[in-house]
Amino acid sequence: MVGHEVARRRTFAIISHPDAGKTTLTEKLLLFAGAIHIAGSVKARKASRHATSDWMEIEKQRGISVASSVMQMEYGGCVINLLDTPGHQDFSEDTYRVLTAVDAALMVIDAANGVEAQTLRLLNVCRARNTPILTFVNKMDREVRDPLDLIDEIERALNMAAVPFTWPMGMGRGFNGVFDLRRDSMRVFRPGSDRLDDEDEVIEGLNNPEIAERFSKNAANMQQEVELIRGASPEFSHAAFLAGQQTPIFFGSAINNFGVREVLEALIHLAPPPGPRSALQRQVQPSEPKFSGVVFKIQANMNPAHRDRIAFVRICSGRFERGMNLRVGRNDKDIRTNGVVSFLSQRRDLLDIAYAGDIIGIPNHGTLQLGDTLTEGEQLQFTGLPFFAPEIFQTVEIADPMRSKQLKLGLAQLGEEGAIQVFRPHWGGTLLLGAVGALQFEVVAHRLKHEYGVEARLAPAKYQLARWITADDPRELKRFIDTNAHRIAYDVVDAPTFLASYGAELSVAEESWKNIRFHRMREHA
Ligand code: GDP
Repeated sequence: MVGHEVARRRTFAIISHPDAGKTTLTEKLLLFAGAIHIAGSVKARKASRHATSDWMEIEKQRGISVASSVMQMEYGGCVINLLDTPGHQDFSEDTYRVLTAVDAALMVIDAANGVEAQTLRLLNVCRARNTPILTFVNKMDREVRDPLDLIDEIERALNMAAVPFTWPMGMGRGFNGVFDLRRDSMRVFRPGSDRLDDEDEVIEGLNNPEIAERFSKNAANMQQEVELIRGASPEFSHAAFLAGQQTPIFFGSAINNFGVREVLEALIHLAPPPGPRSALQRQVQPSEPKFSGVVFKIQANMNPAHRDRIAFVRICSGRFERGMNLRVGRNDKDIRTNGVVSFLSQRRDLLDIAYAGDIIGIPNHGTLQLGDTLTEGEQLQFTGLPFFAPEIFQTVEIADPMRSKQLKLGLAQLGEEGAIQVFRPHWGGTLLLGAVGALQFEVVAHRLKHEYGVEARLAPAKYQLARWITADDPRELKRFIDTNAHRIAYDVVDAPTFLASYGAELSVAEESWKNIRFHRMREHA
């Protein structure tokens, strides 16, 4: 039973640069899967986010944002879990960690812009985990870049072979459709978003005279390119795709519902079901009957006064039933799961029972932390939840010294939640905050004020990079720490960190201390 349910799960995230069309594509995917009302709430969320850059407004929307950060739909016999990754405004470390909870990623790129900076950062995380990536090249109804150039750029950015499954004919006003290289047929483009793309007109065969007749301007070029692609691009290998060595490419226009169904079909036929996960103790198979899961994201919920948070749990094995008792591995505490959050789903009954691959949201008041493992009692600790070395640092001071206890508490809790990284300098003094995205500081200052009653003064710190440090010989580590004490700080789990103001400082340290390892990433363990 569990095995059957696991086999039909597909859990993935869409990654893209802002404005490439992620929201539009998400909506269309939901539309095809028959979850139209969900599509509306995706749009509502986006509208609210764009209406203002003010964090307070964003906060008002946190209710919606919790609900729509995981969407579930059924299509072609599969249960698809789609995890949202935030765009630029609220970009933070969260996004990275969301990618550890998925089994595949869908990269959306704007055909006019190619692979952009934000996408690259996310791709790095996928690559580090060999996550299979599907690629959708969007906005072919615009004047865009030459598709052959785009393929080239994608291959270089992903460092993997790109295998086109469809190929566009023309672009912009002259966009005529896409040619399906596998089916050997062309789907004719018609603008408009009210129609589903299975109503599209199809012309069979690359050399069908009808193609040349009707699309005299673009036909020859498309035919040549398709011949070229067929000759030059590697055979698609499912194994290579699953190993993160090949990405299938689809062209289309999300806003026109064009090319979207191919992506959905590819998701269910090509993307993998949940696989085994590593814990310190052993490998855990998804089809094991007993429940296990890992907290990969914590989000503060609507009511700041109650400090309620939702822990997002990726189920790693077995079956979840609402109300079951789960044990937290870190402290052997049991939690009840009556109030588990219903993520957006088109079917009510999917919410009370969940299987490996699904995401559940457990409301709590701080019992659950990032990286926590939940089981039915077995002692397990999943590994692999990454913390990334911050790229921006600020010092934090307090206006009213009487509130320093609240500041400590607030920072400890926000740190546990992963909203920010808090470092305690070796020599004492003011705490140091580290983040990957600048908005994280704004959020923290706002929440310190509203949830903990603390007016915190944040100021830029002199540091620009941090590396966690380890050594095989603890004496060597101590020697390093003593010698560099003014550049050492400890993170939330007391792991020592080396701080530098310039890249050169780091290189010098690396050169002179061969027995010390400097890490960009720390895994929760
Ligand atoms: P996100 O920031 O990645 O979620 O992007 P959105 O889905 O909000 O899209 C950004 C803008 O691009 C919006 O104005 C969309 O209407 C537009 N857009 C999305 N897909 C297409 C497309 O296929 N063609 C054109 N011309 N515009 C599109």
